Amino acid sequence: MAGGESLAVLDKYTGETIAEVPVASREATDRAIQAARDAFPSWSRTPAHKRSKILADAARLIERDKEEIATTISREAGKAWKYSVNEVARSVETFRFSSEEAKRIHGETVPMDASAFGEGRVGFWLRCPLGVVAAITPFNFPLNLVAHKVGPALAVGNTLVLKPASTTPRTAIRLAEILEEAGLPPGALQVLVGSGGTVGEWLTTDPRISKISFTGSPPVGEEITRKAGLKKVTMELGNNSGTIVEPDADLSAAIPRCVVSAFANSGQVCISLQRLYVHKAIAKEFTERFVAETAKLKVGNPLDRDCDVGPMIDLKEAERAEAWVKEAVREGARILIGGGREGRLMQPTVLAGVRPEMKVMCREAFAPLVSIYEYDKFEDAVAMVEDSPYGLQAGVYTNDIRKALHAVERINAGGVMINDTSIFRVDHMPYGGNKLSGLGREGVRFACEEMTSIKMVMIRS
Ligand code: NAP
Repeated sequence: MAGGESLAVLDKYTGETIAEVPVASREATDRAIQAARDAFPSWSRTPAHKRSKILADAARLIERDKEEIATTISREAGKAWKYSVNEVARSVETFRFSSEEAKRIHGETVPMDASAFGEGRVGFWLRCPLGVVAAITPFNFPLNLVAHKVGPALAVGNTLVLKPASTTPRTAIRLAEILEEAGLPPGALQVLVGSGGTVGEWLTTDPRISKISFTGSPPVGEEITRKAGLKKVTMELGNNSGTIVEPDADLSAAIPRCVVSAFANSGQVCISLQRLYVHKAIAKEFTERFVAETAKLKVGNPLDRDCDVGPMIDLKEAERAEAWVKEAVREGARILIGGGREGRLMQPTVLAGVRPEMKVMCREAFAPLVSIYEYDKFEDAVAMVEDSPYGLQAGVYTNDIRKALHAVERINAGGVMINDTSIFRVDHMPYGGNKLSGLGREGVRFACEEMTSIKMVMIRS
């Protein structure tokens, strides 16, 4: 698969090179797509119980190697150890759900004689695999977001070519080894390391690819969608997630949860809490306790078992986030805590006195950075959460069911979490965005649906 070139994978905390990974050439990409295509007829006809078993065995092997895999994630993604361990545990579940879903790929009968033109006929539809899926994945969950594509694609009988983020390819390579050990036949999953502009683009435009399943930033998602032509696409993109805290909320539950939601994985989560709307009746108490809780976070080496906030993925991103904070301050915002940066390590930062048009509010921060905004009327807070080009998930803390339902109705997003923040996700729920946040849904059952097409069968009796 190597084209001679290689890519250095860095430990994001120490900066040392932890591996040199071969980069795929155009010819290697071509061969990988062809191998996945050649593997398709046999894999798609492999009985469901056998596909299911391979996926269940993969879940078991991930669990067996959890410490080793979590170490790789912490080093190549800079993710704090406890969150890497959590990601591995979630991936085990994603593969278990995929194993179960492999046995539930079915259609239904159609009452043909409901139409005068359908009399004397029997009809039913089947769900069929598509062919070769190209999976293009981001750096921030190098295992579980890959699992969300690989598990469902294999469950329904597709084969795949996977291009992981160039900053975090080792976890994906390890996952492919695990699937091989679990009995996945050669060719069914190919991993290609290389840049978005080369391997990513070749996959996007190759006519042998039937579907592109992409997770990443909105601009790249839009570019891929434009170039993909008539291929099916699923786009899981970004957000500037908002959460509202009403005075009737249980603050002792809400405050620590909001802190974790803002700073887990250094804020590099697509549903990280970025805009925090707090009612003015509780704003003073909430803000003081929130800042005090943030001050307890341990920033540093992600491999330390008690680390809360590790480095950001690269220096450029950390510098960009710091520049946004400085710009907000120039425009009148106040730093309540944080604001500083040492290399890739950005201090957890809380801003107040922000305005909706500041970058820290209206763009996706993807950094350990949260802004607190005081509001007076609940309906206004809901309108502000909704006033976003994105629509992935939002959160509302209230015990008033009318308010909860008002938010559910008014916020145009893939999910509204009541008495939790935007960050809540389990891996079998439907998950995905509206507006600039994407197209289609993941969550194992929903990804399986998107990775199949419907074939109608009619039999004339
Ligand atoms: P990114 O820069 O868009 O990269 C994502 C993937 O796309 C990488 O593998 C990248 O390759 C590849 N790529 C880049 N340019 C490409 C092109 N022209 N054609 C094809 N592929 C291309 O995103 P990221 O920085 O890794 O991740 C952060 C973003 O992902 C945020 O916006 C976040 O909100 C979003 N995200 C969304 C979800 C969700 O489920 N909705 C989950 C996680 C993250 P290289 O690495 O080689 O550049």
